Amino acid sequence: ESNTLHWQNLSREHLLPPFSDYRELNAKGARIITRASGVYLWDSKGNRILDGMAGLWCVNIGYGREELVEAAARQMRELPYYNLFFQTAHTPALELANAIAGIAPIGMDHVFFTGSGSESNDTVLRMVRHYWMTKGQPQKQVIIGRWNGYHGSTVAGASLGGMKAMHEQAGLLISGIEHIDQPYWYGEGDDLDPDEFGIRVAEQLEQKILEVGEDKVAAFIAEPIQGAGGVIIPPDSYWPKIREILARYDILFIADEVICGFGRTGEWFGSDYYGNAPDLMPIAKGLTSGYLPMGGVIVRDKVVQVLNEGGEFYHGFTYSGHPVAAAVALENLRILKEENILERVKAKTSPYLQKRWRELADHPLVGEVRGLGMLGALELVKDKQTRERFPGAIGMRCREHCLDNGLVMRAVGDTMIISPPLVINEEEIDELVTKARLCLDLTARDARA
Ligand code: PLP
Repeated sequence: ESNTLHWQNLSREHLLPPFSDYRELNAKGARIITRASGVYLWDSKGNRILDGMAGLWCVNIGYGREELVEAAARQMRELPYYNLFFQTAHTPALELANAIAGIAPIGMDHVFFTGSGSESNDTVLRMVRHYWMTKGQPQKQVIIGRWNGYHGSTVAGASLGGMKAMHEQAGLLISGIEHIDQPYWYGEGDDLDPDEFGIRVAEQLEQKILEVGEDKVAAFIAEPIQGAGGVIIPPDSYWPKIREILARYDILFIADEVICGFGRTGEWFGSDYYGNAPDLMPIAKGLTSGYLPMGGVIVRDKVVQVLNEGGEFYHGFTYSGHPVAAAVALENLRILKEENILERVKAKTSPYLQKRWRELADHPLVGEVRGLGMLGALELVKDKQTRERFPGAIGMRCREHCLDNGLVMRAVGDTMIISPPLVINEEEIDELVTKARLCLDLTARDARA
């Protein structure tokens, strides 16, 4: 207990954590996480907490895998660091690029490594503009993203994303970025049925292309399933319509796989799940199961052929292809494959999670239950019929109840989100759903008070 107070004071005095209201956090004191194993975290007071978010959608193989520790230690002893700048390479980056090409969609055989998802999205922005310049079409500069999409916190990442609060706080967007609506049926579908709505929002892509001028559009960027925006699962009609539109115009398709990649939907990539064929795929998170920071962009061969003609690409990071991170990623991919984790997700874990998760639909606070693969969301509403929201942020109350009762469930506004490790078992899923229901009850009690 006294240690906890000590660490909380260190937090107040020295730490500026991401996406935090500092005054509020300092008043309350940070929860100090001390260790983790499997799907569980422990805090400094000895509480065990089921991690329903796999960290930040990333600890896909669960915590505490010694093989990754060993892989990192081995690589640190042998070659802890070297860069890829001087026409040099090293075996971890080479082997990882080869392994990624082996699981990526056909025709996507090249990887540019970065240190994070945000850096990956900065990379795609520069890469697509460089691509069109090299092709002799320098006027193709505009990238179309989606409102409420999330592509990271760097200036380009935040601009490609559609989080208005992020734009406003920093005087963004940077030039040449446009947005269309997200396929958020529950919140914005009015009286259309989901498939009609899916088509209507997809058609905005074509309208935007024509508005900007088809000779000016470089690329369209989207997450297969919007994660940080609230696990927005598109209606079935959405991606086929987007594909149809993309096929009509000469623009690149960027699928941000930072969350959906490496098994979250049960396939290697969300694009595989939907049958999409992107040209560039930013990746991060599940690539190393979060054990070390690493990201990348998987690039279609036809794009690489053009880049090959473009001279030097003035872009890269000190830690691009970091050997220790690459060794850990390789080990992570080996475990995902050899333990048949994706097959198990598809055949057992995801069907069980989705069945149990949907039972929460009967709760008075729950307006909609959504889920796909190893993702889930609950929309908290005051009135199920009218979908009226509560005044004030009830999602945060629910998140607090969850943490106090040993469950991490994230709140995005009044949408509660889960994205547990892919290796969660049925008993742990039962615990997750039981605790979620308890916390919904506690939140409902607060709401009535
Ligand atoms: N893209 C998506 C879809 C994400 O969800 C995130 C992070 O949540 C990012 C990009 C940014 O990744 P990072 O936080 O590693 O920079």
